[in-house]
Amino acid sequence: MAVQQNRVTRSRRNMRRSHDALVAGNPNECPNCGELKRPHHVCPSCGHYNDREVVAAAPAVDLDDDAA
Ligand SMILES: [Zn+2]
Repeated sequence: MAVQQNRVTRSRRNMRRSHDALVAGNPNECPNCGELKRPHHVCPSCGHYNDREVVAAAPAVDLDDDAA
């Protein structure tokens, strides 16, 4: 088993962890529906990318319907 040679001080540990924070995403507004979406990704709400529909939007499912 590897054993560390020197104790890492609170200061050095905290300096190492100073870069560990998560950064927030940078969402764009979808030009088609105006919903926020990740840049360079298909819009999850309308399925558009680059001003055209690339993923067909699923029809709304009515769970209260008496189909069952
Ligand atoms: Zn959209």
